[in-house]
Amino acid sequence: MSKVLIVGGGHAGANTAFTLRKDGFDGDITIISDEDYLPYHRPPLSKDFLKQNVAIEKLSFKSSDFYKEQNISLNLNTRIDFIDLESNHANAKDTSFDFDYLVFATGASPRLLPMENADAKNLFYLRQITDVLSIQKSIASAKNIVLIGGGYIGLEVASAMIELGLNVIILEAEKRILQRVTSPDVSKFYNDFHTKKGVEIICNARVSSLNAENKLINSVSLESGESISADMVLVGIGAIPNTQLADSIGLECENGIKTDQYCRTSTPNILAVGDCTSSFNTLFNKEFRLESVPNALAQSKVASSSIIGNELFNNEMPWFWSDQYDLKLQMAGLSSGYDECHIFGEIDSAEFIACYGKDGYLIAVDSVNKSKQFMLFKKALGNGFQLEMSLIKDKNFQPESIFSGSN
Ligand SMILES: Cc1cc2nc3c(=O)[nH]c(=O)nc-3n(C[C@H](O)[C@H](O)[C@H](O)COP(=O)(O)OP(=O)(O)OC[C@H]3O[C@@H](n4cnc5c(N)ncnc54)[C@H](O)[C@@H]3O)c2cc1C
Repeated sequence: MSKVLIVGGGHAGANTAFTLRKDGFDGDITIISDEDYLPYHRPPLSKDFLKQNVAIEKLSFKSSDFYKEQNISLNLNTRIDFIDLESNHANAKDTSFDFDYLVFATGASPRLLPMENADAKNLFYLRQITDVLSIQKSIASAKNIVLIGGGYIGLEVASAMIELGLNVIILEAEKRILQRVTSPDVSKFYNDFHTKKGVEIICNARVSSLNAENKLINSVSLESGESISADMVLVGIGAIPNTQLADSIGLECENGIKTDQYCRTSTPNILAVGDCTSSFNTLFNKEFRLESVPNALAQSKVASSSIIGNELFNNEMPWFWSDQYDLKLQMAGLSSGYDECHIFGEIDSAEFIACYGKDGYLIAVDSVNKSKQFMLFKKALGNGFQLEMSLIKDKNFQPESIFSGSN
């Protein structure tokens, strides 16, 4: 009987355990999590949970009874900090776990702001339940919130905080928000929407200092000379994969733990899943790292299959969602390198799909409040359909025709 040890109890780790049992694996399964909560859904942290619309218990994937019923040993508040590959043991402070298969599901950590006073009591990052609980305490006595970073986390937090009645300023170092992930049209749409809701967005804003007294920031200075008053600062400038432990045992890492399409690392009995990986995807014939729940879930199925000896591999079309106000953004495909962007639908009425093309064919879509049609595009991309941009740009084009063949 073999033993699977999973380091990390987030989406990828917990779902690897669930899938192993579903797939009929009857060996030992142990999850080690350095957090104090049952494995939980992370997306609500910057959305409904931040607004206190969801109770903490509702975040859990499963009840504690489920783990007992499934004979999955869950060790919370336990951090693996050393692995001995000679004896196949993973060690925490006071205890040690042996394994036949080791699964890295260590996720990612917020990129830190390398600046004096970044350790102030009213500066926060957002990754875990404990972060939100601290933010909520600070919000109670705050009015002016400065968000550093105009990516998804910053924008979702802005939308939640505006709804909570706070003054919100976003400082974005690039010339537009969401620059790394979307087109100018979509960035402008989100910029305008947030501005109408009352968020002040300053682009090309390079922070030069965090000004604090008694470890409490009271203003943020920009390289432009501007000074912005702040009762609270939240930093959302990206995440870095947690690869230190994998590195320490010689696994190949490059912006993530490198894996093949079967989620296997460079060491045969060690796999890796989720945000911590840079994984080979057969649909694109290359390796890349993603930070999304769908990716974590897809890889957990692949890792389970590899342990059991089945042949599932990573060919998932990347996709992601972000909720801000009543806007549902859904993205599918990899838009990097696109050479044209066509807007299907009405950008002014907040119902549209940005279609990205390369060499005449669709490679990705960003959809706002068009979930039904988004699903059709996502399915077509995932199935490897070659959709011509000229077809999509035709004024009579309807996404429903992709599968009915009526165009
Ligand atoms: C605020 C927020 C909002 C998000 N919203 C969305 C969204 O709307 N849509 C979407 O698709 N994705 C969203 N994401 C991304 C999504 O949550 C992640 O892609 C997903 O959680 C990745 O799962 P994971 O298991 O790989 O990593 P994680 O969920 O980060 O889990 C890794 C776990 O491993 C633990 N760990 C690390 N090292 C050790 C160790 N040595 N020993 C023990 N435990 C360890 C970590 O503490 C953590 O609990 C959001 C993320 C955040 C932070």
